[in-house]
Parts: sequence; C-alpha cells; structure tokens
Amino acid sequence: MLNFLCKKCGRQHNVSMSYTFRAPHYYNLLTEEQQARNTLLEGDTCTISHPQAQHTDYFVRVTLTVPVKDRNTAFTWDIWTAIDHGDFFNYKQYISNFSAPEPPRYKGWIANMLPDYPGTCGLKGDIIPGTSPGQLNKFEPYETDHPLYVHFHEGIPMREAVSVAGTMCHEEAPAQDM
Ligand SMILES: [Zn+2]
Repeated sequence: MLNFLCKKCGRQHNVSMSYTFRAPHYYNLLTEEQQARNTLLEGDTCTISHPQAQHTDYFVRVTLTVPVKDRNTAFTWDIWTAIDHGDFFNYKQYISNFSAPEPPRYKGWIANMLPDYPGTCGLKGDIIPGTSPGQLNKFEPYETDHPLYVHFHEGIPMREAVSVAGTMCHEEAPAQDM
C-alpha cells in the first residue's frame, strides 16, 4: 500500500500498488457485440479475431514488477501482452503440463496503456511463463529509453510513484478505459 497526500484532490489516499487490466486495450475498443462474437477471454489468455481481415490476435496475461526507488516496495502491473500465433500455441502447450527442456521465454508486446506513461502499447519484452499451476507469468521489457523500461530497470522515484498512484485513484473505471 502507498499512503500519500494527493495533489489532484488534496486528500490523503491509501492505495494498493497492484493494478489489474481486465483485458487487452484492443479488447476494450470493441463493442459488446464484437466482444461476444469475436473474442475469447479466458484465464491468462485472450484471442481477438477480425473476421473480415481473416486474422486473429493473441494475448497472454503477465505481471510487470516496477520497484520504487530506495523503498522496499514495488508496483505490480497485471497487464496483457500480444504474442505471435506460434508462440501462443507453444505457451498453451507449455502450461498444459509445465514441462520443457529449458524454461521457455516468448517475445511479447505490451497491450495496455499504463496511466501516467507515454504510450506503452507495443513495448517489447520477454514473457517468462510461470513454472507451476497458478504461478504468474512475468514480463521483462527490453532496453529502451521509454520511462517504463527505465523505471523497471532503475526503480520509479517516489514522487512519480505518487503521481501514478494518484491517477489510479481518480480513474473511474480504469480497466474499461485503458
Ligand atoms: Zn486524490
């Protein structure tokens, strides 16, 4: 939990530092009818088909942990990443029995807009699947000058962590909008 005086409303907030996106950004852009007809959102996976383009997009849920600088705490972002068709099926196969010659990694692209950051959709990194049932998949972004990578790598300064947390408190329905 993060306790802070909010610049946006002047009140004291005590907020959770874990933040969950219910679905990929692209899922939220669809109408309810399209969601019902063309998507499958189930556990840690999501598929979105585009019947007219005869194309399907694949997504896997991951956790991105961003430490807060000089504090023994971190933001936990429960987000979605886009994954290639082939790797999606490799992933599904892997989590059916959690056995592989070596721990797998798949390339993924962030598929949510994180509050307070410049566009985060499309940031690339490695998806590291959990190694037993119920264990979360991790995400490690590749090096770039994007602030999300910098925060992942070096920690987010407390001042910026408070700003992110303030934005999170004041989002009406974040999982819907982003
Ligand atoms: Zn506030």
